[in-house]
Amino acid sequence: MDFILNKEPGKAPHLYLPSFGGGKARAIFTTRCGGVSQGPYTSLNLGFHTGDSPEAVTTNRHLLARSLGIKEERFFTLSQVHGDRVVVIDTERDLMMKKGTAADGVITSLKNTAVAICCADCQAIYLYDPVKEVISVAHAGWRGNVARIALNCLQEMTRVYGSRPQDCCAALSPAAGDCCYEVGDQVYTAVRDAFPGSWQNLMVHKDHGKWHLSLSRANALVLMDAGVMKENIFVSNLCTICRQDLFFSYRGSAGVTGRMAAILIQ
Ligand SMILES: [Zn+2]
Repeated sequence: MDFILNKEPGKAPHLYLPSFGGGKARAIFTTRCGGVSQGPYTSLNLGFHTGDSPEAVTTNRHLLARSLGIKEERFFTLSQVHGDRVVVIDTERDLMMKKGTAADGVITSLKNTAVAICCADCQAIYLYDPVKEVISVAHAGWRGNVARIALNCLQEMTRVYGSRPQDCCAALSPAAGDCCYEVGDQVYTAVRDAFPGSWQNLMVHKDHGKWHLSLSRANALVLMDAGVMKENIFVSNLCTICRQDLFFSYRGSAGVTGRMAAILIQ
């Protein structure tokens, strides 16, 4: 089973994982449908700094919050920089003060708090520890993957809240799939260097001589190396480049496009 599309009338259509963490955590992935943005940002663009009208993005964020039944002040987003830094939201004050921090991962034990990552082809990683009741999301395109941001999230969950990776469940969002995600020498070399024993399982050599990267297999490997059990890792099979009817794709639109949001709430 993959993420399921919620198409209730009057709501922005969004994907969700029905039983993530035994149903105690809500893992949501938005689509490009149901918003007010125009042109290449049609229509539920949630990313500022994309070239879209800020008013449209603000309206889209209102629409989404209403659709999910979450107050907008309970949303937490970062200024993502394709790095490996992880922010801890430990208090209500942190929730206000740390919004927009330059980082690519966030962890929190706060309830009714929607931690969110914006993406279009990059993969979002959801982590939930049902024992310590901690959630985390991270932004992991190839740079975040080779920097092992998922490991950093788990290490912070352990350091701050005492989480054990073997208790955690993980989900990997829709992203550029190895069907479509051709990579050049820079990415090929980075992946080979980061995973010397296993890079052959992460990239596919296509007939035309090019390599295609599987972000899902690469991010799952980082999670398993960090101690998350394979049976606790859910992987979406949806490719954002194949499914531009449903998703924004950075690669599929030569960089001019909107962003979806991966959202986790407990
Ligand atoms: Zn594809």
